[in-house]
Amino acid sequence: MSKRDYYEVLGVSRSASPEEIKKAYRKLARQYHPDVNKDDPKAQEKFAEVAEAYDVLSDSQKRSRYDQFGHQDPSQGGFGGQGAGFGDFDFGGFGDIFDMFFGGSGGPRSRGPQRGQDLEYELEVDFEDAAFGVEEEIQIPRTETCSTCAGSGAKPGTHTKKCTVCNGTGEQQTVTNTPFGRMVNRRVCTNCHGQGVIIEDPCPDCRGQGRRRVRRTVQIKVPAGVDTGMRLRVSGAGEASPNGGQPGDLHIVIRVRPHDLFEREGTNVYLDMPLTFVQAALGDEIDVPTLDGDVKLRIPEGTQSGTSFRLRGKGIPKLGSTATRGDQHVRVQVLTPTNLNEKQKELFRELGKELGHQTNEQARSFMERMKDAFLGNA
Ligand SMILES: [Zn+2]
Ligand SMILES: [Zn+2]
Repeated sequence: MSKRDYYEVLGVSRSASPEEIKKAYRKLARQYHPDVNKDDPKAQEKFAEVAEAYDVLSDSQKRSRYDQFGHQDPSQGGFGGQGAGFGDFDFGGFGDIFDMFFGGSGGPRSRGPQRGQDLEYELEVDFEDAAFGVEEEIQIPRTETCSTCAGSGAKPGTHTKKCTVCNGTGEQQTVTNTPFGRMVNRRVCTNCHGQGVIIEDPCPDCRGQGRRRVRRTVQIKVPAGVDTGMRLRVSGAGEASPNGGQPGDLHIVIRVRPHDLFEREGTNVYLDMPLTFVQAALGDEIDVPTLDGDVKLRIPEGTQSGTSFRLRGKGIPKLGSTATRGDQHVRVQVLTPTNLNEKQKELFRELGKELGHQTNEQARSFMERMKDAFLGNA
């Protein structure tokens, strides 16, 4: 069966704009993605076909070569390679796409254009930003296709020449006759190092490499609810391919900065709240800081130190369904008054006499329970 025309595969005209091509690819890639077509063995084939077509038509250089030579590009030995493995999904470039939605990349990768290397970057975000999401701008050093020569490696205005030793195939063949028959030996062309082309006038900006190191600003959309250790993938923001394939991905590893007041466990937030002796004894309405600002919390009279109160829905939004939020737990710590003056001490002594019986009762019952516990275990 002969190979289908790439434009036909994507269902676009030969004059389609890059946007039209991208749109067509995304639609088809979603339709045939192996993850959603587990029962359809044909889908995987279709998906690979679509990915291959997109790999070529989305790259202006490869597209023009394809327009010129069709499936038999003499300088690349055909377009048969898989630039895009399964799972290398591009929903419009830089977004908040999670690795967990995709089983990682992989897929058949044989000859032809190689995918660029993946990059990893650790991104520190504030506690609140991790809760509610944020857009961050980061600078990453990476290798990109040289813009001066558009990756050809040739000085602008000059052209690469087809290698005359291998006639542009990048391979040298030697045929020897042996007692067992003719032996064909193929090896990488020593003249062009397998490139099939010779650069006579190298591009000054990349010294003929076709790629160079740059610091690139990348916009990262951090979704609400992320936590330390989670990874975001920015499709196509990794290293450029060494030979005209798709760029690698950028992996962002999230680290949430600790907060002065709040602690976090999953989607729940914990806060230690000091209470005065008087507030704990008599009860009060206090202002409690939350991620949404202060809220009122009623402290009932006779509250013991260490008691925890729950503020429903004041925790961290759940990743991916931000309408669901965890709770905030407020643990109260009763402060024992210090540095009392003589008058205050006198008042406490009086209060002590007044409460004497009551507090002694409480303490005694506590001691008895302790004793029971120890004896019970003995
Ligand atoms: Zn260059
Ligand atoms: Zn050669």
